[in-house]
Amino acid sequence: MADTALMPIPGMIDPVPTPREVTPREDGRVDLIGLPKKAIAALFEAAGLDAKAAKLRAKQVFHWLYHRGVTDFEAMTDIAKTMRPWLAERFVIGRPDVVLAQHSSDGTRKWLLRTADNHEFEMVFIPDADRGTLCVSSQVGCTLNCRFCHTGTMRLVRNLTPGEIVGQVMLARDELGEWPRGGGTMAGLDDVEDEDGGGYSPDGRLLTNIVMMGMGEPLYNFDHVRDALKIVMDGDGLALSKRRITLSTSGVVPMMARAGEEIGVNLAVSLHAVSKDVRDEIVPINRKYGLEELLQACADYPGASNARRITFEYVMLKDKNDSDADARELVRLIKQYKLPAKVNLIPFNPWPGAIYECSTPERIRRFSEIVFEAGISAPVRTPRGRDIDAACGQLKTAAQKMSRAELDRLAEEKQAALG
Ligand code: SAH
Ligand code: SF4
Repeated sequence: MADTALMPIPGMIDPVPTPREVTPREDGRVDLIGLPKKAIAALFEAAGLDAKAAKLRAKQVFHWLYHRGVTDFEAMTDIAKTMRPWLAERFVIGRPDVVLAQHSSDGTRKWLLRTADNHEFEMVFIPDADRGTLCVSSQVGCTLNCRFCHTGTMRLVRNLTPGEIVGQVMLARDELGEWPRGGGTMAGLDDVEDEDGGGYSPDGRLLTNIVMMGMGEPLYNFDHVRDALKIVMDGDGLALSKRRITLSTSGVVPMMARAGEEIGVNLAVSLHAVSKDVRDEIVPINRKYGLEELLQACADYPGASNARRITFEYVMLKDKNDSDADARELVRLIKQYKLPAKVNLIPFNPWPGAIYECSTPERIRRFSEIVFEAGISAPVRTPRGRDIDAACGQLKTAAQKMSRAELDRLAEEKQAALG
């Protein structure tokens, strides 16, 4: 079987090519997870059904997959008994393999997952009082090398397929025990579809929100992320509202308008610095798409409004980006571009070999106050799951954890690349 090979990082700031939409399986069957209804119908037709039957079966199967969460064709009771083995010979309903499941003392859960062709990536679930957020990965590793991010030190990258992205949501639902049992409609569906945050309750849904903030840069895997999120939002299936989904980008400016138009979810931007020098250093994509361009793309983001603000993520790094002057400049920029914005201050989460320290709590508080006093919301994000390396920027698969010597070598290579 051809491997969907990991690719060496091609450069500091370039996307990786996308080899294929579906990861081939050794047994030759096709995994239906991640395929839109039309593609499922086309496969059924290619396997011998007439067009009308293929369309009808695709609709039924889609419902079973995403509304009911079944993983066995035998459970599809409205499909003829003779038809079920026919399906099972040709197709599977896949999930990423779980290599390791960890539970933090604060309730956060992290799963180390594996694709059908043996590449590892991570997914995190963060329960809160009024919501449950799944942090989904878009790539194995990341090409971008932000200096404070552990994922950025992974040397090899491959885009996840739509099936591997949707598969994370499916698996999370499995693990949280959230599929409806027996017949009837799905309990709590109305809650999930409402848009005022009322869906979470002890007997209702646990998974209410999705953030594309796991491993990888989602806008460097645009097509797959879009196709996956369309399935997650499909009213016949998982039916998660676009208002409950947030896509975070480090600033892939040319893709931002398309993200707004073609996906339409909430946007978060990893700003992290307000001057060219500092942002060039800590978020290297800034050398390709600078601050002005990025902020203009935010101002132009389709769908942003005072009711749907853009979130600016700002990691607090001691003596790097955390002064009063930085806070005031942040306010000035947001006002200059008239951005409907909120700021999310993220205390830096350390990892072995990181060259930064987190700002002091007093510094973070003062920074937050300055932004807040200018009329912009600036909450400090509580770090979650730090004890299991599940917090922002700590994700990196066990298989790829590097030795100190390897990290040093990488740092040298990075310096050389900067010239
Ligand atoms: N690649 C995308 C999404 C994944 S990262 C992006 O960069 O936006 C999710 C968030 O965690 C980003 O804002 C990222 O900058 C932040 N982050 C990365 N490393 C971190 C660390 N060590 N501590 C705190 N936040 C970090
Ligand atoms: Fe990639 Fe985001 Fe980490 Fe930067 S912060 S290296 S873009 S995952």
